[in-house]
Amino acid sequence: LFVEHPLGAGQTVPLSRDQAHYLFGVMRQTEGGRVKLFNGRAGEWLAEISRAGKRGGELTCLEQSAPQLAPPDLWLLFAPIKKARTDFIVEKAAEMGAARIVPVQTEFTNSERIRRDRLQAHAVEAAEQCGGTYVPEVADLVRLDRLLADWPEARQLMFCDETRVGARADLAGAGPGPWAILIGPEGGFSEAERARIAGVPQARGVSLGPRILRADTAAVAAMTLWQTVLGD
Ligand code: SAM
Repeated sequence: LFVEHPLGAGQTVPLSRDQAHYLFGVMRQTEGGRVKLFNGRAGEWLAEISRAGKRGGELTCLEQSAPQLAPPDLWLLFAPIKKARTDFIVEKAAEMGAARIVPVQTEFTNSERIRRDRLQAHAVEAAEQCGGTYVPEVADLVRLDRLLADWPEARQLMFCDETRVGARADLAGAGPGPWAILIGPEGGFSEAERARIAGVPQARGVSLGPRILRADTAAVAAMTLWQTVLGD
């Protein structure tokens, strides 16, 4: 369970109404039961349910059950698509361990508004279910040209480009370190955008195979490729 509260031996942690509903209503937990907690900073803690109520409750931390893991320094940049598919991308990026998830507005981006709080809540749920000890940060929507103009010198960019058939090997020779994966919208990138991305010295155009994948499929395929070649 993710909590926004300090964790440590003997520390008590209040439960919100929603958390109490989930633990006591849905999971049928009762006082004295054990729950695993994380807050993204202090690893995973085993806690005991010290008070169970309808509208809230309290947990008491017993001992640390796993150390804090550092996320791989991977950002997933993607152009938001339809709501359910955007949710899917955020969920899968959190499960695959991305440290930061950045919705990007491009020329052909289908959706120009996102609910950052909703997407962040999806990231929390995904981190809870996969037993991670951290939650990726979901950033606000940023325009592609602004993102590229301020591109950090040390961060390599895996530009997923369906026009570069056969360019999978471009990752060969790439080193570990900070990375970002960039996935385009349903309509792909415009020629001008493609040229701007190619102008970033850290960018490598990468193919995910000869078929044009849906953006949500491409996001999962790209993270898998990155993990296989570069990450863990
Ligand atoms: N129209 C489809 C859709 O509804 O999602 C396909 C969209 S595809 C153009 C969206 C993005 O996925 C592209 O901009 C690219 O970043 C990535 N992509 C899809 N297939 C790819 C491939 N074979 N290689 C590399 N990137 C790919």
